[in-house]
Amino acid sequence: MKPGFEAVIGLEVHVQLLTRSKMFCACRNEYGGKPNSHTCPVCLALPGALPVMNGEAVRMAIAFGLAVHGEIREASPFYRKQYFYPDLPKGYQITQGPVAIVEEGWLEISGKKVRIERAHLEEDSGKSSHELSETSSHVDLNRAGVPLLEIVGGPDLRSPQEAYDYLKTMHHLVTYLGICDGNMEEGSLRCDANVSVRREGESAFGTRVEVKNLNSFRNVKLALEYEIERQIELVERGEAFGQETRGWDADKGETRSQRSKEAAMDYRYFPEPDLPTLRVTPEEIEAVRASMLELPEARRARFIETFGLTDYEAGMLLQSRAFADYFEALAQASGSGKQACNWMLGELSRTLNGRNIGIEALGLHPEALGELIRLVEARTINLNTAKESVFPALLAGEGSAAQIVEAKGLAQVSDLGAIQALVEGVLAAHPEQLAQLKGGNVKLRGFLVGQIMKQGKGKVNPQLVNEVLDASLAHG
Ligand code: ADP
Ligand code: ZN
Ligand code: MG
Repeated sequence: MKPGFEAVIGLEVHVQLLTRSKMFCACRNEYGGKPNSHTCPVCLALPGALPVMNGEAVRMAIAFGLAVHGEIREASPFYRKQYFYPDLPKGYQITQGPVAIVEEGWLEISGKKVRIERAHLEEDSGKSSHELSETSSHVDLNRAGVPLLEIVGGPDLRSPQEAYDYLKTMHHLVTYLGICDGNMEEGSLRCDANVSVRREGESAFGTRVEVKNLNSFRNVKLALEYEIERQIELVERGEAFGQETRGWDADKGETRSQRSKEAAMDYRYFPEPDLPTLRVTPEEIEAVRASMLELPEARRARFIETFGLTDYEAGMLLQSRAFADYFEALAQASGSGKQACNWMLGELSRTLNGRNIGIEALGLHPEALGELIRLVEARTINLNTAKESVFPALLAGEGSAAQIVEAKGLAQVSDLGAIQALVEGVLAAHPEQLAQLKGGNVKLRGFLVGQIMKQGKGKVNPQLVNEVLDASLAHG
């Protein structure tokens, strides 16, 4: 950013809630499908059809509110927001008014608290397509009435990078909570960015511009970088500009004016008469709290504390809930959190990256891998053998770790008698080196150990080899 200037950014994030049915009707809440197949009189807005609130969506909003340390409002009425567009069959959107179900929360991004002003429930619109034919537009109402949580962030972000980090953290949180699938390509999580600039040291905010159509993390950053530079240039030239909405054109890499504040619509909000005020009791809040999983922040602290992991390791394990769950199951099955972590961040991550899949798709039960780790811990096999020979066979479904070790004859030889025979054989075969070692050339010890390991085909227990060798040198 140009020195002497500061950006002020606040994001509005729309999160599609992962409920089974839509917000006010029993239609399936599912992406795609034959156009207009997930519809009914309510979401088609047929006369006389009445909305009924989806309790699951309310519980998800509460869970989000608790996760961002927010206030859950006891009473937050629904409102009608009127505008005309073909993908909005009722002619209005049901949303919340001055009071939102969640208010005054915050999200932490690298040590900084970013306020969440409010998060309110509303319904999504349908989808129009203007590209299917030259003479007509098409409307698909499968998405009409899908529950949304609109999360309004405070004007607390100061750079495109911070906005990017905030969105990443938000994405991680809502997917972790299981209230959104986070698929930005399918529009499950959408973001608008409000941005203004001011000279450093100024306390009043500059005129803000709302940038729409940011459908990826990258675009949020690029659009903000572009928009901040554009605004700084205007300010430097002393050109006044008004509040407006601009759209991001990813192909051209620029924002373009869509409508000015003067042209802003009057939505004629008024309370929704067909729905009772949304009320939440303290008992309901407590029930949601009790059913909630441990949140990422707390889980991270626990991983560090219980398993003796570093902050970095814990963060890596928390990349997704499934990954963290797998780790915990593996730590349990293997009896070692540290080793489980090493495998997660080593061999397992390599395999997942190589196949470009998530841990859910691997098809390897944590118990099965835990058994392998136990074999290493018990020194039945060494780590190299485990990684190079047993793990691939385990993935290939060639049986349990113990069965593979048995079938391939990979077990370390820990039998004292056998090792003694091996050591004696090697010493007898290298009388000169033995004599030099006894004469004080200590380097030859390494050579002899190498010969013994080689004879043992890498399977002898190195610790026992050393002990037996020491004993026989001392005695002989
Ligand atoms: P509206 O009702 O027009 O959407 P809000 O007051 O709800 O306006 O603000 C929307 C978003 O704009 C919030 O995320 C807020 O943080 C952000 N915002 C408000 N003022 C500014 C500003 N001057 N610069 C940048 N962002 C701002
Ligand atoms: Zn419906
Ligand atoms: Mg707003």
